[in-house]
Amino acid sequence: MKEQVFSKSDWLKRLRALAGSTRIYVPVKGPELHVFRILGEGVEPDFDYRNTRLSPKAIIYPPSERLFECSLDEKDPACNIFKEVDKDRTPLAIVGIRPCDAHGLGIVQRNFDNPEYKDPWWVSRFESCTLIGLGCSSPGSTCFCSSVGGGPFSEKMLDVLLWDLGDQFMARAVTQKGETFLVQAGGGAEADQVAKKKAEEVEKSAAKRLGRGISADRIRGKKINDLFNASYWEDVAFACINCGTCTYLCPTCWCFDIQDEVFGKTGDRIRNWDSCMFPLFTLHGSGHNPRDKKVQRLRQRFMHKLKYYQDKYNAGVQCSGCGRCVQHCPVNIDIREVADRMNNV
Ligand code: SF4
Ligand code: SF4
Repeated sequence: MKEQVFSKSDWLKRLRALAGSTRIYVPVKGPELHVFRILGEGVEPDFDYRNTRLSPKAIIYPPSERLFECSLDEKDPACNIFKEVDKDRTPLAIVGIRPCDAHGLGIVQRNFDNPEYKDPWWVSRFESCTLIGLGCSSPGSTCFCSSVGGGPFSEKMLDVLLWDLGDQFMARAVTQKGETFLVQAGGGAEADQVAKKKAEEVEKSAAKRLGRGISADRIRGKKINDLFNASYWEDVAFACINCGTCTYLCPTCWCFDIQDEVFGKTGDRIRNWDSCMFPLFTLHGSGHNPRDKKVQRLRQRFMHKLKYYQDKYNAGVQCSGCGRCVQHCPVNIDIREVADRMNNV
């Protein structure tokens, strides 16, 4: 499909015009961090950002979501009968999503939309969402997307890919959905050779800035028990404080817990993100906990991401190389080092 260019001010005008019929999420600069917000009055997007701390996975799969509600009022004929909570079904677009986070959505998709299970909340939101990716011109030292099947300008899972060319964006529709989005946005001028050349240079320079990658090519061929019983886990887990930061920030983690909450005479069934790093995650009703030691929990996280997922899906590792866990782990546990140990020991 042909590339188009938009001046940045024009692009923003087009997005604002579309915002009436589509919930358009854009990166916005907060007091400390960039966050994704719905484009509306008073919301100023800032596309000049490296990445948000919390991944935009939270837009499709919210950290906490009411799924069902029921009346607990015994005079109500519908007392104790759960009904699904109404959802906003307006189409969505995430504009400015980084390629690593789009790749992350593809990984989570395998868990929520497969022949054995289709999660209705994930499926409806994901299908109504258009992903407008913004290529990374300046990847950080903790980014390693290229070594896990992505890249700073990877089109994986995206509907449109944007290149930041200074005062313009160059856009390429990757899917029909993306093509439709650009048509609805009014279309841009066809990109000339100068714009294309500039985009190529931006891409080349980005590839040089990437941090060190991970090696995971030999993990799939190793026996589960050999990796599980390896001697390095105590060493890796020593500093971990089980804070859960790594799993909460990760665009590829999908675990959740369901809680019933009572508010006066109404009850809600709520789905909340959960973390394999927390001791309660595997606590059985009997009181037995098969992972009551932090070394078991940490091992589970890495074994799942780097071994079990590979074995189950034969589609690479469960990591998109965004680097959030490397950057924000308070005790500097680095998945790249753990992968190297698993791969090479
Ligand atoms: S962020 Fe670091 S310290 Fe916190 S649970 Fe993850 S590995 Fe452990
Ligand atoms: S494991 Fe770490 S680097 Fe990989 S996708 Fe999750 S947060 Fe990003």
